[in-house]
Amino acid sequence: MSRFLSPRFAGLSPYVPGEQPRDMRYVKLNTNESPFPPAPGVMKAISRDEVARLNLYSDPTARALEDAIAAWAGLDPAQVIATNGSDEALAFSFQAFCDANVGCCFPDISYGFYRVYAQLYGIDALEVPLTEDLRIDPADYARVGRTIFLANPNAPTGQTLGRDAVEGIVRANPERVVVVDEAYIAFGGESMVPLIGTYPNLLVIQTFSKARNLAGARIGYAVGQASLIEDLRAMKYSFNPYNLNRLSILAGTAAMMDEAYYQECTTAIAATRDWAADALAARGFMLTDSKANFVFARHPRLDGYDYYARLKARGVLVRHFGAPRIRDYVRITIGTRDQMENLLAATDAILAEAP
Ligand SMILES: *Cc1c(COP(=O)(O)O)cnc(C)c1O
Repeated sequence: MSRFLSPRFAGLSPYVPGEQPRDMRYVKLNTNESPFPPAPGVMKAISRDEVARLNLYSDPTARALEDAIAAWAGLDPAQVIATNGSDEALAFSFQAFCDANVGCCFPDISYGFYRVYAQLYGIDALEVPLTEDLRIDPADYARVGRTIFLANPNAPTGQTLGRDAVEGIVRANPERVVVVDEAYIAFGGESMVPLIGTYPNLLVIQTFSKARNLAGARIGYAVGQASLIEDLRAMKYSFNPYNLNRLSILAGTAAMMDEAYYQECTTAIAATRDWAADALAARGFMLTDSKANFVFARHPRLDGYDYYARLKARGVLVRHFGAPRIRDYVRITIGTRDQMENLLAATDAILAEAP
């Protein structure tokens, strides 16, 4: 830290991304990327001619992309804002809907960035403990008087709340925005998007990183009633009007045009997830009921960090979190069937040598 850093950041603990090794010999199951390439139309959209136009700024309105998302979601383009990853949509939401008087609220175990943004923007955060079995209890979110951030499915547990439960939370907090982070919704669970028209305080955030095979393109979006989206646009135009680059706008727009391809990918991943969960359970693992593109598992004979480290030594990368309530677990991204067979083989070897 230099002596010039503002003291208000002295205690900031930045987000720690999962490892992105240069050495691609790893079986990479640690950051919830898709094992499949983007749709063929995406590759075609990034033509040499388009690369040659990178001397020009991108469209600050990202019109083509927002129109495509709106058409896909059955919404008006005024109800959509495209962002640089859904992380940026989250950041705009913290800035727009929280302040010194209106704090935020999220589960104690959830996407780690919520805590980081609250710190970064100096917003008081109420962290609501998950239940003993790592579930969100909707009753804990009745009239909290704060802006609420919920991941559904939750991370890193993968467990879902039904639409009725989330709707209950939205109804119980009419004076506050409820932000539902649906990064993993395509793999299972019920989206809140159909209820956008009903609730002026409902904001839904989705991403192209997980179910549209485009983590490297950094594309996300928020959808909500036009007045909420207008607020987020004010944040964007006060921060970075060209928040999406030319190639990402093209890639994202093309990705919205091949629903069948992505359905095939998410169906395959969900099937592999359920198969891998059964295979791990058969080996004595305990798993949460994940509807996402990962499983969250612990084994009574393995320490979470130790299992992670021994898998890594065998060339398989998974994610371990050190938070006390979940340190026994590892989060394993669902890859191809082959990749999961690799994970199981490495796991069998580790279990065979475990004391
Ligand atoms: C991955 C993830 C995000 C962020 O995704 P982007 O790559 O920034 O779009 C947001 N929320 C949750 C719960 C995630 O798991």
